[in-house]
Amino acid sequence: MYHTLVNELKTRNVTLVAVSKTHPPERIDELYRQGQRVFGENKVQELAAKYEALPKDIEWHLIGHLQTNKVKLIAPFVHMIHSVDSLRLLQEIDKQAQKAGRVIDCLLQFHIAEEETKFGLDEQEARNLLESPEYRALTAVRICGVMGMASFTEDVSRVRAEFRHLRHIFKQLKTDYFADTPWFKEISMGMSGDWALAVEEGSTMVRIGSLLFGERS
Ligand SMILES: *Cc1c(COP(=O)(O)O)cnc(C)c1O
Repeated sequence: MYHTLVNELKTRNVTLVAVSKTHPPERIDELYRQGQRVFGENKVQELAAKYEALPKDIEWHLIGHLQTNKVKLIAPFVHMIHSVDSLRLLQEIDKQAQKAGRVIDCLLQFHIAEEETKFGLDEQEARNLLESPEYRALTAVRICGVMGMASFTEDVSRVRAEFRHLRHIFKQLKTDYFADTPWFKEISMGMSGDWALAVEEGSTMVRIGSLLFGERS
């Protein structure tokens, strides 16, 4: 499974974030030994514990909701934070990145699904953030693109439309705020059930868990 998926994604220049949440370090190590270096977790404490336990050349991505009071636990090592959904959170990431002497790569998370429960910005909120003097004052965060989760549904046309919407937002923001910013290039979308559709719609980063590790208990 792993090599087929990796090769398929490689030909399309899509990064595989292997979502290892709930699985023990030994399972991660199995994929590591097959060459995987990019892993994603959705909980801060779990991420920090796995960082300690596993090889230091792993690139750890935080893909789940992040509370401001927990940023300091991951700021020294996290490779990318996919779930930035407020200026306040971005300010805290900037502060903790400075303390750690780093610049932290971030994605803006958008609410593209119809479900109420999912976190994320809408396009206007993102524009307000990007135009604010507070954002412009930040020096230790780099916004590298956008992230979103489609609705959990069998309705392929709806999922496709949501991915298209995210790509549209990406393009608008690229044109209006990041035209001269080469690192603003990522569209993080697609999970085990919808990654192929996401890739068709322009994903550059898929976050895949159960397809690689099996169902979570
Ligand atoms: C768990 C999770 C995934 C992976 O889900 P699978 O369906 O197991 O591939 C992707 N993105 C986020 C934000 C997640 O929390």
